[in-house]
Amino acid sequence: MAEHTQPIQIDTEILQQYVDALGCIGWQAVGGVIRPVFSTAWVQAREQVAEWMRAAGLEVRGDAVGNLFGRLRGGDDSRTILTGSHLDTVPLGGKFDGALGILAGLVALRSLLEQAGQPRRSLEVVALCEEEGSRFPAHYWGTRGMLGTIQADELERLRDDQGETISEAMRTAGLAPRRYREAVRQDLDVFIELHIEQGRILFDERINLGIVQAITGLQHQWVTVKGRADHAGTTPMDLRRDALQGAAQMAIELSRLVEQEGRPAVVTLGKWEVKPGAVNVIPDEVNFSIDVRHPDEETKQRLAAAIRARYEAIAQERGLAVSSEITSESLPSGMDSALQSVLIQAAETCEASWRAMPSGAGHDSQEIARHLPTAMLFVPSVEGRSHSAAEYTTPEDAARGATVLATALHRLAY
Ligand SMILES: [Zn+2]
Repeated sequence: MAEHTQPIQIDTEILQQYVDALGCIGWQAVGGVIRPVFSTAWVQAREQVAEWMRAAGLEVRGDAVGNLFGRLRGGDDSRTILTGSHLDTVPLGGKFDGALGILAGLVALRSLLEQAGQPRRSLEVVALCEEEGSRFPAHYWGTRGMLGTIQADELERLRDDQGETISEAMRTAGLAPRRYREAVRQDLDVFIELHIEQGRILFDERINLGIVQAITGLQHQWVTVKGRADHAGTTPMDLRRDALQGAAQMAIELSRLVEQEGRPAVVTLGKWEVKPGAVNVIPDEVNFSIDVRHPDEETKQRLAAAIRARYEAIAQERGLAVSSEITSESLPSGMDSALQSVLIQAAETCEASWRAMPSGAGHDSQEIARHLPTAMLFVPSVEGRSHSAAEYTTPEDAARGATVLATALHRLAY
């Protein structure tokens, strides 16, 4: 590793120009970016990033599943140090989610080439695709292509809302879906992703950077509460078996239970159905979703069990029936501690304040970390806004993040 203790200077102006220009591709008059994977806007954005990669002196290559790479060859070109993030957005998303990680990586590699010349080990920046799962039910598509975890049947099985299969959409975008296995990479040593925090911890605490320790795990449950439908006028309150009253009490008590656990535990009951759904009928069935998250698997399981015990007890007290199913579950993903140290050292070299923190949102890094040492660097989101046109990171914060990223990559590759 280089013993260099100077920060690598990045071109702040060009980073901001790139962020603004990329944010215009897919920008809507109502506010927000719509850049779903394999769409016209996505193709245009990818071509623009490729042009910037070439201008930075990188070798540009696209793979079979839709990822785009810019490579800075090292003296030893056998392995790769990878950085980057995703190019796709959620519907009416912001200019920074994903995009900033690609552009910070691109500008970092450009600065390294200018200031330090050819690296000892090869560096690459990647624009990954379909991280969000906004168009196809295919989270982390590009990442999974790279890791070799795409299943053959997904190509014809996964469809968007218009009924188009992912392989048709790929062909429209000029890709060759049948060759998806060629996207697999065996040469990756480490991955570092810069990303906006998408929460407000760094913003509130006025801290420059977050060094991610683990990406949260989650469990989704779909709960059904059953009571009895009766006349809203003739049934006294003390004789009712109202499914909604029970479910409402569950919602309040579950939230309280997770509040008592404290940060970073979170629970959200975001989707509800009330049946029969009439003004003058006592609800006999309520369905609701539970999304519970924690970056420690044991704690997550303990919370999920406590939540279940609580709603079962409430149902029993009220003479209601309750059943549930787990509809989705993911394990927390730990970030590599040696790479975290490299980021901390780089932050200190650049005189940036930092704190260790978990990520409550999912990222490409969580999949990549299951295969190779991975780390994430968060920059502040103003007021924690994200997945919205209001998403914003100041030019100073973005540039500081890119500087720390460049300094860390210098330490790893030179
Ligand atoms: Zn993202």
